[in-house]
Amino acid sequence: MRFSQTLIPTLRENPSEAEVVSHKLMLRAGFIRKLSSGVYSYLPLGLMTLRHIEKIVREEMNAAGAQEVLLPMVQPADLWRESGRLQKYGPELLRFRDRHERESCLGPTHEEVITDLVRNNVHSYRALPLNLYQIQTKFRDEIRPRFGLMRGREFIMKDAYSFDDTDEAAQLTYEKMRYAYHRIFTRCGLAFRAVEADTGTIGGSFSHEFMVLADTGEDTLVICPKCSYAANMEKAACMPPPTGEKVAEKPLAKVETPGKRKVGAVTEFLRISAKELVKTMIFMADGKPVAVLLRGDHEVQPVKLQNFLGAVEVELATDQECFTATGVPSGYLGPIGMKIPMVADREVLAMQNFAIGAGEKNYHFINANVGRDFQVERTADLRLITEDDRCPLCGAGLNLTRGIEVGHIFKLGTNYSEALHAVFLDSNGQEKPFIMGCYGIGVSRVAAAAIEQNHDKDGMIWPLPIAPLPLIILNLGVNDEKITTAAESLYSELEEQGMDVLLDDRDERPGSKFKDADLLGIPYRLTVGKKFAKEGLVELRTRKTGESVDIPFAEVRDKIYQMINP
Ligand SMILES: [Zn+2]
Repeated sequence: MRFSQTLIPTLRENPSEAEVVSHKLMLRAGFIRKLSSGVYSYLPLGLMTLRHIEKIVREEMNAAGAQEVLLPMVQPADLWRESGRLQKYGPELLRFRDRHERESCLGPTHEEVITDLVRNNVHSYRALPLNLYQIQTKFRDEIRPRFGLMRGREFIMKDAYSFDDTDEAAQLTYEKMRYAYHRIFTRCGLAFRAVEADTGTIGGSFSHEFMVLADTGEDTLVICPKCSYAANMEKAACMPPPTGEKVAEKPLAKVETPGKRKVGAVTEFLRISAKELVKTMIFMADGKPVAVLLRGDHEVQPVKLQNFLGAVEVELATDQECFTATGVPSGYLGPIGMKIPMVADREVLAMQNFAIGAGEKNYHFINANVGRDFQVERTADLRLITEDDRCPLCGAGLNLTRGIEVGHIFKLGTNYSEALHAVFLDSNGQEKPFIMGCYGIGVSRVAAAAIEQNHDKDGMIWPLPIAPLPLIILNLGVNDEKITTAAESLYSELEEQGMDVLLDDRDERPGSKFKDADLLGIPYRLTVGKKFAKEGLVELRTRKTGESVDIPFAEVRDKIYQMINP
């Protein structure tokens, strides 16, 4: 590929619209261009990277026994109505009518379509297990698309759906996918972790997210340095609180705390730490108020609360909702005399002689104790993990680190097959619903995550397996016959041997060629310039380490083959 003949519109400055590094660099390096909000065009280098990722995904999915299909992007709304998701999915599902007034939608995911395909064409246990996948453009009408390919509206995804006849078979399929995903992200050259993920309302423990580790990641991962435990924040558990020495219960006392509503203000006023206060927060669970008791320095993890309550939606109550539900202004709420259902984080049970709101404006109680002063019937792990917490499996201190979700595997069970009446006949001639699983990889997101993980101030640093090309040759003497002949001959020879090479044959200053080569992040750079004209040497530089070696031109082919096909 010749730089002069290829659409690589590099930019010198950071585009103002871009907030995260992958977005900035992809725009600057001419990998993508925005068409409209959250919708991007892939230019040649961007597409080459996507194709490399897709190739790895395809090879590993095929090796795991999955079969590739390609499903329509435009889906009839009736199928979504049948599964019950037409309403549930909300405005992220882009809906429209065609010229015959038929309701349709753009596929954000394909459970309905694939289940329909299988129910119409697979009828016997003999055809199972069946695992079908596709690599395709999806559309989700995100309310606030941002971060370029990280959270676009249109994106490229690999989605697979499995169909099994027994739980054991479904579990085996799940494990096969988990193994395939490990292979895929390892082959992409990325540092990643698989973490236990929340399964939401579907239940069960069969869900893992694959996270590319990056300081700029949106998600927090909880990783045990000692054992295999790893989870995302929604799911992360910790050791139950230690049952410490019981101390003597002090008498409950009511104290005036005028205008002190926030934890910080109350504890400062009472000269105690936040660990000696239990705060009472009101949440609206599917519209009904519930009081949550929590140690002062802890935060509620809404997904844990939602799962515990079996609610579809959980939101922090507004001050007005608080007052309507309890008759007490927020900031002075407490468990004594609480009229609405109450649930406590289990850490509260380990506390003694703590402060609480008095359930009355401008007052708190000190030296409150569970059991003596109020009862809590329901306790659970409801809070966000902190750096002080310990591993639920082995007790070691936990590490919190940032990551970007690039893959998700999920055991669906029979939710969709039952809703859509997708059944097969088992070996006894009994009709049964398929046991399903689904497995996604955000292909375009993998490219963005790779950059978030691998870059420096000069540009991208692609891992070799997914770099658009492995090598860029800089011709630093486009007007020098000797230099140009050498660069051109090497380029043609490598291309003829099937290697993808970018030849920078532009009539530009060496400085801007070096800058562009760094920006594009191509793993190896070969410079043919003055040193070649004088001494017959070319410079081979590794983008990642910045190391360079001068080698005689005659040896350069062998050296390149060694580095690129290790
Ligand atoms: Zn552990």
